[in-house]
Amino acid sequence: MLYKSTRNNALRYTASQAVLKGLSDDGGLFMPTNLPVLDKELKELAEMDYKGVAYEVMKLYLTDYSEEELKYCIEHAYDDKFDIADKVELKRAGGAYYLELFHGPTIAFKDMALSILPYLMTTAAKKNELKEEIVILTATSGDTGKAALAGFADVPGTRIMVFYPKDGVSKIQEKQMVTQKGANVKVIGIKGNFDDAQNGVKAMFGDAELKEELKNRGYVFSSANSINIGRLVPQVVYYVYAYTRLLKDGVISEGGEINICVPTGNFGNILAAYFAKKLGVPVGKLICASNKNKVLTDFFKSGTYDKLHVMDESGNFNEKREFMLTSSPSMDILISSNLERLIYLICGEDDLKCAAFMKKLSTEGSYDIDSLMKGRLKDFEAGYAGEEDCAAMIKKIFEEDGYVIDPHTAVAGAVYEEYRKNSGDTKNCVIASTASPYKFPEAVLKALGVEAAGEELTDKLNEVSKVDLPRAITELKNAEILHDTVCEKDEMKEQVRAFLK
Ligand SMILES: *Cc1c(COP(=O)(O)O)cnc(C)c1O
Repeated sequence: MLYKSTRNNALRYTASQAVLKGLSDDGGLFMPTNLPVLDKELKELAEMDYKGVAYEVMKLYLTDYSEEELKYCIEHAYDDKFDIADKVELKRAGGAYYLELFHGPTIAFKDMALSILPYLMTTAAKKNELKEEIVILTATSGDTGKAALAGFADVPGTRIMVFYPKDGVSKIQEKQMVTQKGANVKVIGIKGNFDDAQNGVKAMFGDAELKEELKNRGYVFSSANSINIGRLVPQVVYYVYAYTRLLKDGVISEGGEINICVPTGNFGNILAAYFAKKLGVPVGKLICASNKNKVLTDFFKSGTYDKLHVMDESGNFNEKREFMLTSSPSMDILISSNLERLIYLICGEDDLKCAAFMKKLSTEGSYDIDSLMKGRLKDFEAGYAGEEDCAAMIKKIFEEDGYVIDPHTAVAGAVYEEYRKNSGDTKNCVIASTASPYKFPEAVLKALGVEAAGEELTDKLNEVSKVDLPRAITELKNAEILHDTVCEKDEMKEQVRAFLK
């Protein structure tokens, strides 16, 4: 199996080349030439541990990695950086199964992929006899940045630069990033929002002149953003794993369908769930949950992706869409990059058509899909939760089940509850729990009606939730600030040049 671009079907790259490149030169995203299916029974996978399932899933996508190479990557990624032996855990609450994906070093689900990406990348560099040093350029809405920094810090042959919206991430997210140690890391706040940061990074990936200049200095760019297939593939694993645990525990029987609900921003995590379905995991609906930046909800309901206008009750796009900061900042996104992969699939892998949609999005701010394409979205449901619904959900789950969830997860919980009520679909549902509540203690405690501020927030949350403080939080308390650069959004390129002197 090889990889092609969503904007050029003629391209062919091996998996390791696609991991190294991150993004195709034409601006497209890499897609497998054919989506694989599992070559083992799910009940066989149910007898394996997380690493075993990871190997069985990842080998299907990363076909040019040898068994030894892939197992080496998996062994080093999923070690005791994770605070539970199983790596992920299902918790029953609110009539659903919350899949806790936040037991890694930065207490957000992005650790699941970013702890293995550096190994996939350095292995790929060796396989392809890359001479240059790899420079990871990343835009973050909060969680990717720290998870990427933690993954790449002091990895030989790599450097990492992270751009985050200075006023668009939580205090804890910012502190996690600006205290990052490592001789090869640089963290920069930009005066703009996440889309500005992401556009700036994308522009540099497409800047042939800059790339040539840096190549002469011995550097080559790669991406740790969720557009890299080396991010996407490890995320498929936990949906397969979750299914096999439900099977093992007798919650479902062989062939029994589950629904999956995912709090969504850049559409990476839910796309991984879709890939799991394509692998042969019996999944009914994929429920795409947004916060009030509901561009995806509007898209799934109408077939129009409009980053400039918001859909009203009667389905019209007249009112201007504002970018809103919410208590779930990692979902404050209006340009959902990974959606391009779904668009590509539903337009019948028509690269020219897909490229035309993306062009229209960047020049006119919107595009409409036709009814044939819309018909291919039947696997998906979509909904959004505002700030009040999200807070109410945190409170409700705590009061009913004594279980504390973070605001991102609560958005998904609220959207799922609404879906179940409206559809009557009571299939078992797995909700991706994407961050530890300790990452967003202010919003969580406020939702629970508990007064606290500043340094006492996490201790207070500990008292209320009775969940042990994660290592990521205790370490942060006395950590030294090591990064304080802030730049304008059009100065990002100069910052890169300066770092790579
Ligand atoms: C990144 C992130 C999301 C959104 O994931 P996507 O793959 O971008 O859709 C949701 N919740 C948390 C906590 C995140 O960090």
